[in-house]
Amino acid sequence: MTFKSIKGTKDLLPDESGRWLHLEAVIREVMTAYRYAEIRTPTFEETAVFSRGIGEETDIVGKEMYTFTDKGGSSLTLRPEMTASVVRAYIQHSLAEQGGVTKVYYIGPMYRQERPQAGRLRQFHQFGAECIGAAAPACDADIIAIAADIYARLGIRCTLKLNSVGDPVCRPKYREVLQAYLAGVHDRLTLESQRRAETNPMRVLDSKAPQDIDATMDAPSILDHLSDESRAHFDAVRACLDDFGIPYVIDPRLVRGLDYYTKTAFEFVSTDLGSQDALGGGGRYDGLTEQLGGKATPAVGFAAGMERLLMVLEKSGYTFPSDALSVYIVGLDERSRRWSHVQAVRLRREGIPAECDFTGRSLKAQMREANKRGARHVVIVGEEEMASQRAIVKTMETGEQQSIEFASLLSYFLRLPVSPNSDASAYVSTH
Ligand code: AMP
Repeated sequence: MTFKSIKGTKDLLPDESGRWLHLEAVIREVMTAYRYAEIRTPTFEETAVFSRGIGEETDIVGKEMYTFTDKGGSSLTLRPEMTASVVRAYIQHSLAEQGGVTKVYYIGPMYRQERPQAGRLRQFHQFGAECIGAAAPACDADIIAIAADIYARLGIRCTLKLNSVGDPVCRPKYREVLQAYLAGVHDRLTLESQRRAETNPMRVLDSKAPQDIDATMDAPSILDHLSDESRAHFDAVRACLDDFGIPYVIDPRLVRGLDYYTKTAFEFVSTDLGSQDALGGGGRYDGLTEQLGGKATPAVGFAAGMERLLMVLEKSGYTFPSDALSVYIVGLDERSRRWSHVQAVRLRREGIPAECDFTGRSLKAQMREANKRGARHVVIVGEEEMASQRAIVKTMETGEQQSIEFASLLSYFLRLPVSPNSDASAYVSTH
């Protein structure tokens, strides 16, 4: 009997992991430059953290959560997103008392029981940032700038969609106006949207079903119903984005899936993705901290998919840094093989990626292996070299060979310039 990974989950195999490490390195670099610190929370929480935090009426809580009862009888859920967990941690550890604004980022797996398809998995990975404790529109723009910078740094072409979903003053009034409109087009809506028209009418505008889009073409826009405060906030966010040179399009239909958003909502979409075109998104969630039992605290954040980011990069032909081997050391007999291993370890201790043979292969087979691994240099040592204490060093690109004293080998490799295409920093895992 053999086993397979669960539908909607993926193994990250050795030939792909370098790409992930590179992406993570870019994300960490940008986050650090914006002065966001990493937060790691457990991958499961009490179910109520999500059902209360995200909202019972959302697809996530309604049908996508991996919820189970543990042996102690507690209802637990694998995290479907991070914001609720981050806010739970913020309250639990009284991070507000440390003063100032709490700025955190994360990278990690999330779990949703969705129908798997291209760009949609059941265990997928998100990176994101949360800025908790600041009401200023400048913070919304700061959060948007992080995502925009990460995408720009990776050369990704995408569109930033921006909207305001109002606040507790104006949203109930807009909800009524929208509900009255939806009642008029009730029969033209999908069954799902007919139900949502009652429970969460703004989500009807988010529907991708052509029937719903058609029926709601003339729906009233939230932007015509914003309170003075929400309007001023929206205008200020836009002004900041203009100052930063970040282009956006206003999309009054953008409401995002989660209930906790207030004021700013945004999404990055890519034309290089199929039907699952959302790269990431976020918004302001001033009501969430109170919802989870803390003091009312303004906050804003975003979350973005890693798998979709990789899909876009692979499509665009992005050049990932090479993880090519620097040195392959060929040993031709028992004694030189032992020497090779010692040299490989010495080079590695200096941070130079080095490899040698453990399986007693022939010179030809070892040279083939060095080629396959993209080694830049091959060191060849046999009985004769051991006797003369000089190794043959072959530069693979030029085919040039030279004889180098054993004693000078390490300093020879240390003096070589670093390959322009290698990204050593990307492979220094911070895990
Ligand atoms: P959300 O938390 O739903 O706003 O999702 C934020 C981002 O995470 C999306 O824009 C996607 O890039 C990614 N994402 C969400 N759900 C999935 C999924 N099931 N599989 C892969 N990526 C996802």
